[in-house]
Amino acid sequence: MSNAIKKKRIALFGSTGSIGTQAIEVIRANPSLFEVEILTAQSNHELLIAQALEFNPNAVVIGDESKYLLVKDALSSSGVKVFSGENALVEVADFDSYDMMLAGIVGFAGLKPTLKAVEKGKAIGLANKETLVVAGDIVMRKALENRAPIIPVDSEHSAIFQCLVGEGRNKIEKIILTASGGPFIGKKPNFLVNVKRHHALSHPNWEMGAKISIDSSTLMNKGLEMIEAKWLFNLDPEQIQVVIHQQSIIHSMIQFEDGSIKAQMGLPDMKLPIQYAMAFPQRIKNEFPRLDFRKYSSLSFDEPDVKTFRNLALATEAMFKGGNLPCVMNAANEIAVWAFLHNRIGFLDMTAVVEKTMQQISFIEKPSLEEYFESDGEARNFAASLIKM
Ligand code: NAD
Ligand code: MG
Repeated sequence: MSNAIKKKRIALFGSTGSIGTQAIEVIRANPSLFEVEILTAQSNHELLIAQALEFNPNAVVIGDESKYLLVKDALSSSGVKVFSGENALVEVADFDSYDMMLAGIVGFAGLKPTLKAVEKGKAIGLANKETLVVAGDIVMRKALENRAPIIPVDSEHSAIFQCLVGEGRNKIEKIILTASGGPFIGKKPNFLVNVKRHHALSHPNWEMGAKISIDSSTLMNKGLEMIEAKWLFNLDPEQIQVVIHQQSIIHSMIQFEDGSIKAQMGLPDMKLPIQYAMAFPQRIKNEFPRLDFRKYSSLSFDEPDVKTFRNLALATEAMFKGGNLPCVMNAANEIAVWAFLHNRIGFLDMTAVVEKTMQQISFIEKPSLEEYFESDGEARNFAASLIKM
């Protein structure tokens, strides 16, 4: 028997995305710690094939069924199992043969496979915040029941998670979620009304997938993150504060009951929280650029402008009211962002679509999982009818 340390077998869901490709870099740099068990992608079959040939996983899923044969052919001599379609994501999440799911799918589509992994008691490195926004109560309850550790990848939540290490039962008084403010910080509606896709896609501090980049530009991302934090850290909505911190150096903070505040800091680089989640509780040495405080003569902190960026106010309302409202908000937002990215609606219309949908769909105080799915579907249909897609 070899006495080599057992490698962590990673199921990388959304392997072709921004989070997925950065997770691949972390795995590539640490071949003695990690191996790839599963890869999934929606449509980028070329990258999926290249990743599969490099890492030789047990299985891959290509979401888009029209690409199935292409992937199957390319991997025919590799021994890699190839699956296709939405249900296949849940099928492979049901495998016993992996240790951690890195949940890097974007949007509601990530919920089902992540829930399956949680039910199997797998460790989850959670990037897919929408999973907790939609059904955080059910996901966290099942994680507790099945002893599935959920380790956040979102940088703010990773920061809070890191600040909690060593705190035992010490209570959080509040958390301070930092927000860069996005590319349109300080702008007013008369400017925003003319914003186009390419403006909104260029974030000052982070390079991310299209959906989260738009969410960052409307501050919906911070709204989703408040709800994500509420579930992850079992907080009351009153305990969550958002502060604009343009430099993205402090990734978030906790204020404990004695008034003491802990912050986690570093240069904005998602590889760090990805690596932290994958290796937890270990920290791995790396060569990422280091923060030099002498290059930052000041760090700034401001209140968010919720009158202009009304998505943050809508998300606050959804967080306080709870029930199916965050799920409805998320569904409407996914439709609105899609429509904006396809030049069907303007920047400010996104908020209008979300707000009208939140007003329209019947409120359910304690939804079942089926009711979350129904609310998601109803909200999508209504939001789409506003856009006339
Ligand atoms: P992305 O668009 O770059 O990648 C998404 C991945 O999911 C791709 O691999 C794609 O193939 C797959 N995918 C897309 N739609 C799918 C569907 N319907 N079914 C199955 N797979 C699908 O997105 P991203 O920026 O990597 O973000 C992924 C998640 O991580 C999001 O929930 C986002 O909020 C969160 N997150 C991202 C960042 C970041 O820096 N990119 C930071 C924090 C949190
Ligand atoms: Mg974040």
